[in-house]
Parts: sequence; C-alpha cells; structure tokens
Amino acid sequence: MRQHARGIRPIDLTDVQLASSETARRINRDIVLELIRANQPISRADLSRLSGLQRSTVSQIVEQLIQEKWVCEGAIASPPRGRRPTLLVLNEDLVVIAVDLHPKQATVATVDLNGRLLDRSIVPITSDPAASTKLITDCIERMRLALPLKSIEGIGIALPGRVDPVNQHMIFAPNLHWPDYDLKGAVETATSLPVKMENAATACLLAEITFRRMDGVRDIVLVTISEGVGTGVFANGHLISGHHGMAGEFGHVALDPSGVRCGCGRRGCWETFASCSAALRYYKALEPRGRASNFNELLNLAEGGDANAAEALAEQALYIGRGLRLIIAGLSPAVILIAGDITSAWHRFGPLIEKEVAEQTLVGTPPRILPTHDGDIARLRGAAALVFQRRSTGALTKTSHRKSNGKKSNREFRAALRA
Ligand SMILES: [Zn+2]
Repeated sequence: MRQHARGIRPIDLTDVQLASSETARRINRDIVLELIRANQPISRADLSRLSGLQRSTVSQIVEQLIQEKWVCEGAIASPPRGRRPTLLVLNEDLVVIAVDLHPKQATVATVDLNGRLLDRSIVPITSDPAASTKLITDCIERMRLALPLKSIEGIGIALPGRVDPVNQHMIFAPNLHWPDYDLKGAVETATSLPVKMENAATACLLAEITFRRMDGVRDIVLVTISEGVGTGVFANGHLISGHHGMAGEFGHVALDPSGVRCGCGRRGCWETFASCSAALRYYKALEPRGRASNFNELLNLAEGGDANAAEALAEQALYIGRGLRLIIAGLSPAVILIAGDITSAWHRFGPLIEKEVAEQTLVGTPPRILPTHDGDIARLRGAAALVFQRRSTGALTKTSHRKSNGKKSNREFRAALRA
C-alpha cells in the first residue's frame, strides 16, 4: 500500500474546496456506481460489503441511481439459502451520442453506459463550420428517431483541438481550419441536448479511466495519432489541463525548425513527422505514383507486402517513438496509450516504437506502451465518457483525499474484490 509523506502537507489556499456533506454524498454515489459498473450484476448487500458503506446508505444511493436511470434492477439471485436479492446492473437503455470530429469527416455514434457502440454513421466535414454542424445535427436527429426507446443523456464531442476553459469555444485546432465558432452552442440549440466537448486525446484518456482499463495507474499519457498528434496527460492521479487548457501540445514541439510547414504555422513540429499525414508523405516520396490516397489504404498496401508502404510506416513509427522520448523525459508516465488507426497494425508499429523509447530510459523499466481500441472506437468511447463521467476533472483528484482520510480508494475496493 502507498506510504504517505509525514509532516505538513502543502495546501494551495487560493484553490481549496472544503469537504461538505454534499461532497461526501457525491463521492459515495460515485463509488457505488463504479462498483456496480465493475461487478454487475451485484446485490445491495455485496455493494455494502465491498464499499464499507452501511446497508441503509447503499440503499439510498441505489434508489437515487435508479431514479436517475443510471442503474436498473435485473435478475434475482439464487443463493443456496436465505433471501433472494434483486441484482443491480447499469441501465443499458441510457445512451449518449458520441461525435468524433476530424478535419474531413465526423463519426456520429450512440454508445451505451457500458461503452458499447449501438449505431454509427459518418458525415463529411468542410471548412464551413455551420454547414458541417448542420450535417452532424441532422445525423443525430436520425439516430434519435431510430432509437425511440432509449433515453439520451447528452452529446459528447471529441475534437482535434482544445476547448477554451472560459467560453467553451474550440481554440487551437490547426488541422480543422475553422474560424472561431461556438460548436457547443450550435449543437445544443439544434438538438436541445447538453453538449460536452474535449480534446480527443484527453477524451480517450478519460474513457480509459472511466471504463476502467487503467485501474490504479496514476501516471498515464495517451497519444492520438491521426491527421495530427494529440496528447492527454494524467499525472499523479490528476487530469492535466494547464494554462488556457493547452497542456499536452507535444505534437507542436519543433523537432526540426527547418522541416515541413505544420498546420499550426510553424515548421518541423513532431506531428509533421509522426502523424498519418506524414506517413502518406513518406510514401509519396518513395513512390510518387503510389496507389494509397489515405492512411487506411497505406496500411492495406503494407499488409499486402508493398515494401514502400511498409517503409513509410516504419519511418512514422520511428518518429512516434522519438517524440515519445520528450513525453517520457518530461512526465515519466507508467503507461503510454496510443489511439488511432495505427493500432490496427500494432504488430508493425509496437516493436519499432518500443525500441525507440527503450533508448530514452534513464532509470528502471521503460513505460508500458499499449494500443487502445482499434481505429475510431477509442475516440467514440472518449466522446461518450465526457457525458458518462459524472465526476469532474477536479473530483478525479478526490481519490487521493480519500486516501489521506484513511478511507479506502476504489482501487483498494477492487483489489479486495479480486482477492
Ligand atoms: Zn505545429
């Protein structure tokens, strides 16, 4: 178990939030919801045993979660003796609309509370934000009509850019080429549903934390590799947003100031070497009349034995690994997650990236480098997690507060469950 430092704990008095009874209730509700998610179907008695909360407290929270439609009663258990409890599961009829926005197309999907995709459609995106948004909201309306029995909780949008923490407008989306535009406001007005927006890499990272693949790991960096390179940072158990919400823009660190022009206007940024657009450029240089016009075609050519396609992808992998060295030196993550189309050819990329990263390791073992779900599924689950994640970024940090109060963390609950 983690040892806590003794002595005076530094507290930033400009940013304190006293623990109210409302805060405690919210934390308890989150714990119960997480335990149901991880252990469904589960009885109220087992929830009480695993959480350490009293039966009456658990019952109250469960009633609230049922009223809010997050949880529903499922099968009745058949114990060898005694009362037969009703088991609780997450409500699969509660869904969100997930939008994964790219410079040339957006994927719109419905995702249930377990992170499963129920429906998916692709719409084209142009440099006209209002016209593009209209195509997205029309698609959302079609999906709503197709799922009349589902309760839609809201819309999550994963962006190839950052969101202004003050006015929630999209800022710094160099590959999208949109003027300043209130995407959130436009989608909310057209659909009458609440919208949450976040950088795609941060959203993917939130999904990994929410849907619990990364249980207990406190230092994770997630890198999306697509038209650009995006990064989400979870450090010391906190999601990092930084000044102006711009933390994690490693993709725009210049590796070669005389390199090719980047979407951000500078030259030789990491993403001009490591993105899927870079791989296509390497391929065109090797084979000017080559048949691949997009990244998936390039992947297929390489899998079919095309040596130039394979070489272009190897060059991309080399530069992904070199850029990760910056991240490892700066943040020392335990795990680096990679999201994007390259994950479907991980046998090709993984070993090359790991080799580059191993050379940066100064002490101990290098971080684990893992692919997320194939293709756009990771980003869609990320967009869904923005809505499903009940806890705000700040609340994610409360795990450490609970620990310092001597109470059990979610991780310890699950460790107890597995034991
Ligand atoms: Zn750049």
